[in-house]
Amino acid sequence: MTVLVLGDQLTRRAGPLAARPDERVLMIEARAFAARHAYHPHKRTLVASAMRHFRDALREDGRPVDYHETATFGDGLDAHFDAHPGDDLVVMRPASYGAADRLRDLVETRGGTLRVVENELFCCSPADFDDWYDGGALRHEDFYRYMRRETGVLMEGDEPVGGEWNYDEANRETPPDDYEAPDVPTFDPDATTRSVQDDYADVNAGTWADPEPFGWPVTRADALAALDDFVTHRLPDFGPYEDAMVEGEPMLDHALLSAPLNLGLLGPREVVDAAVEAYDERDDVPIESVEGFVRQVLGWREFVRHAYRVGMPDLADANRLDATRDLPDLYWSGDTDMACLDAAVAGVRQRGYAHHIQRLMVLSNFALLYGVDPHELNRWFHVAFVDGYHWVSTPNTVEMGQYAADLFATKPYAASANYLDRMGDYCDGCPYDPDATVGADACPFNALYWDFPAANEDALRSNHRMGLVYGHLDDKRDAGDLAAIRERATDVRAATDDGESPRTE
Ligand SMILES: Cc1cc2nc3c(=O)[nH]c(=O)nc-3n(C[C@H](O)[C@H](O)[C@H](O)COP(=O)(O)OP(=O)(O)OC[C@H]3O[C@@H](n4cnc5c(N)ncnc54)[C@H](O)[C@@H]3O)c2cc1C
Ligand code: SF4
Repeated sequence: MTVLVLGDQLTRRAGPLAARPDERVLMIEARAFAARHAYHPHKRTLVASAMRHFRDALREDGRPVDYHETATFGDGLDAHFDAHPGDDLVVMRPASYGAADRLRDLVETRGGTLRVVENELFCCSPADFDDWYDGGALRHEDFYRYMRRETGVLMEGDEPVGGEWNYDEANRETPPDDYEAPDVPTFDPDATTRSVQDDYADVNAGTWADPEPFGWPVTRADALAALDDFVTHRLPDFGPYEDAMVEGEPMLDHALLSAPLNLGLLGPREVVDAAVEAYDERDDVPIESVEGFVRQVLGWREFVRHAYRVGMPDLADANRLDATRDLPDLYWSGDTDMACLDAAVAGVRQRGYAHHIQRLMVLSNFALLYGVDPHELNRWFHVAFVDGYHWVSTPNTVEMGQYAADLFATKPYAASANYLDRMGDYCDGCPYDPDATVGADACPFNALYWDFPAANEDALRSNHRMGLVYGHLDDKRDAGDLAAIRERATDVRAATDDGESPRTE
């Protein structure tokens, strides 16, 4: 019997590694997989370095680890079964749809067996979720309250701590002009990380993103330090500024924990507990910060994982707005005059990260209004972000961001410069005018924003949450303004298609 550890299951605290402390361990680092897509160099480095560090930590514990660096996953299994013919493998269920079956086929064709056990890297098991979910409307807020009750996190008996379930209203402040977010920690590459960078230098050479400087946590100790740093320095302002965008502050007060969480280096419950403990023991952590953070991890992260389970396989192909445009090249090149997009793509190119509001309200919003095929956008999020995995990028991109699947989103997350200017300060340094909709200087978001409900009237007019938007659209149509707006939207798309920024004067 051998415990198979996948690259995003790097924990000794759960699953078969914890349950079978004496068994041999198998890990496979497949280079062809890493080279197959245009993955961000930081992501390749992060995953391979975290795997090698994890291997070394297991060996230091005295566990036998067979670690195969091979071209493909199948080659790694060949090497394993050559050495251990007919071996029985046990693995935690991979989070990606269909991966367990594919894995089983690969193992069985090599004469072995594969036992798939529950994935313990989440707080809510499939069985518990399926007990809770009645098959009707899938709503995050209901699930979140269920999770709070089930876990007792931020609960006083049956009531939420502070009296409210949700302090969303207090999560929409913008920082003062002179605000400086605390520095974020970076983890300098050690010898193991450097050897990974060397090994992948050919694959990473000349790609669209910057291989250096790399500073993501790659070990359990680094990940715990990153958690401690967040809770100590950024948790207090996390809540108030959760929805804000500030020029020159690409992380603001966000946790930067999705990458170590998605690799298994941190567990969701321990990060929730660390935040709640800080709230209980300190005076500088307001309820809207701890509740906001708990809502993201215990609520959204768990929710999208199960929404993915429920929604697949249809979710992967869903496209209810029939959006078919190619992803503009600017998502790779960062070549745009639009200050908010420029900053968000720059963060992705530099470190494979943009914070949630940049992802949703800038990167995804622009793609939605522009009409990008949701699956092209999903592929980009998947490969370009250090925390991108199919189980989490797909529900967030295809459903939340692109309103493509009728799974849990109640209306499209579409916004004009009005929202972006209110929640961020990028417009101050942008050549476009956030208050103008037509004209060469007009913010490109604005014409696209009004073109979107006009172009998708059949799909969206009956949505009662779009009533206000259609009221305004009708006013513009009645006033004879809509034709010019749609013409400007066409110009914006044509320029973007040509790899240029829409013209300014
Ligand atoms: C279009 C789009 C694509 C996304 N793709 C990914 C992805 O590939 N991988 C990924 O981990 N997250 C994804 N997210 C969710 C979220 O934006 C990131 O988890 C978050 O920005 C990570 O940064 P952070 O650790 O600083 O998070 P914070 O903003 O500080 O939040 C704390 C933690 O909450 C969790 N979280 C918050 N929101 C979500 C969410 N909607 N879904 C899942 N977890 C959440 C994360 O684990 C995160 O670390 C996406 C969101 C959008 C809108
Ligand atoms: S004016 Fe428009 S493009 Fe420029 S920063 Fe503001 S919202 Fe973004």
